[in-house]
Amino acid sequence: MIGVAVQPTEQDVVAEFFELFKTPWEFHRNDGRYDVLICTREQVPQNAAKLVLLYCAGTTEPDTEAGLSVKSRRGGSMLVHEGVRIPIYGDVATFPGSRFAPVAEASTAEPATFAGSSGNRTVLRIGYDLFKETGHILRAGQPAANAESATLDLHIALLRDLITKSGIPVVEIPPVPEGHSFIVCLTHDIDHPVLRNHCCDHTMVGFLYRATIGTVINVCRGRKSFRDLRANWTAALMLPFVYLGMAKDFWRGFDRYVEMEAGLTSTYFVIPTRDYPGRPFVGNGVSRRAARYDVTDVRPQLQKVLSSGCEVGLHGIDAWVDSSKGCEERDRVTQTLGETVTGVRTHWLFFDEKTPAVLERVGFSYDSTVGYNETVGYRAGTAQAYKPLGTANLLELPLHIMDTALFYPNRLNLSEADAEKLLWKMIDSVAKFGGALTINWHDRSIAPERFWDGFYRKLLCELKSRGVWFATADQAVSWFRKRRAATIEAGNVEGGKIKLQAAASAKDGLPGLRVRVHKPGTWTSTEKAPAPSSPAFMDIGLRDKVDTEVEF
Ligand SMILES: [Zn+2]
Repeated sequence: MIGVAVQPTEQDVVAEFFELFKTPWEFHRNDGRYDVLICTREQVPQNAAKLVLLYCAGTTEPDTEAGLSVKSRRGGSMLVHEGVRIPIYGDVATFPGSRFAPVAEASTAEPATFAGSSGNRTVLRIGYDLFKETGHILRAGQPAANAESATLDLHIALLRDLITKSGIPVVEIPPVPEGHSFIVCLTHDIDHPVLRNHCCDHTMVGFLYRATIGTVINVCRGRKSFRDLRANWTAALMLPFVYLGMAKDFWRGFDRYVEMEAGLTSTYFVIPTRDYPGRPFVGNGVSRRAARYDVTDVRPQLQKVLSSGCEVGLHGIDAWVDSSKGCEERDRVTQTLGETVTGVRTHWLFFDEKTPAVLERVGFSYDSTVGYNETVGYRAGTAQAYKPLGTANLLELPLHIMDTALFYPNRLNLSEADAEKLLWKMIDSVAKFGGALTINWHDRSIAPERFWDGFYRKLLCELKSRGVWFATADQAVSWFRKRRAATIEAGNVEGGKIKLQAAASAKDGLPGLRVRVHKPGTWTSTEKAPAPSSPAFMDIGLRDKVDTEVEF
């Protein structure tokens, strides 16, 4: 059991942190008995814990008592743990004289950790404030420069490592569904399902440029084939006939994803009304934001995707900023399809700090907007669904990968080979930490002039080979709710044994959970260079109940 001693104002952040790191814990009580005490106060409260983790960027009372030299750095540092960089947004303390250096500040290589002991108790000083960092990321998200860091997942991994290597086992319910390596949510934003509706607007001009000159440039750079060139030039020449209704509208047909994803499920986010750009957002002109279609225009395709077991959510226009407009938008989709809409992603990924509360008032179960337009990665610092601070029920399913961010010249502008390198690395990261990798492949990305369907098929192949659970956004969020509602209790370690009990709902048709027991390790070789942590854990399937004793 972990006891947590923090300031009262940090309690909501701590509670959410321990939904992401689902291990037995409680706020520190004077009569509590803990294996581990995590403290962010400058004074450590009375307790008998064997291990105290003191996370603080300032100078604490134990630092002064131990005569520890503390150097403070103001906001914005990078720490390194086992070769992995962890961005820190608040202050950092380093301990220049420390010989215990599993974590160091990147630019100076000074240790950001210090180990002390008194009697049989170990005190580890970590030079940043874990919950201030967590709160900052949950509220503000990460800048695009740190997109590649799953920072919250890294904080959890570091904390787990500090505990197990200090000789104490950790039990948790990891964000990994039973029988699968992790979760993947395939999603499709429906922005341009009908080319005919874009006569002489910026979308048509952009299409013509990219299909003709853009494709020639891409052939010269080795990024498109001559086959693509021929297909795109043919599409450009056919354009007048498409407008006259004499040729097939080649953007019509996003429901081809159903065949491409045969046997898998995905989620389609649909815009409720045409020609309405919505409210402005700082730094964005809005007139181009209006979609040239209406949910009723794509009803047959959406009915096909629904009947194949997929989900339809709202691609909101004003729902992010106005809950009564949000109700109207959601109801329009619900009434058109005769199907309840439970989730939303805002068109152009508009959101601000008030958005979660606005969406919660509409009654959405989840939002899937928190991601980047300009890059791919972890804006929310995690692959897990989480509850935005200040909301009671809404979960955020963060968005990680968007096709346009990968390939558009004014975004990352990657070749397919470079995109593959980047995404396969992200897949490795989610496979390591668990969670739900959320991907947005737009409606027209499988048509001229993009032809990103080949890459998408390759991505699906890779994900299938990893044994993932392909879930709709609603299913993934329901699974995370089940994990949040599950209980896990563990006694303190006695005589090399630990008793553990866990319970979860089993009657929902979703994959089960698992209880993971991380075995205690040691700080091997030298303190300065601990051995890389091995996956020294065992898993126990959790369908409804686990009641067992594990011996080390
Ligand atoms: Zn959109």
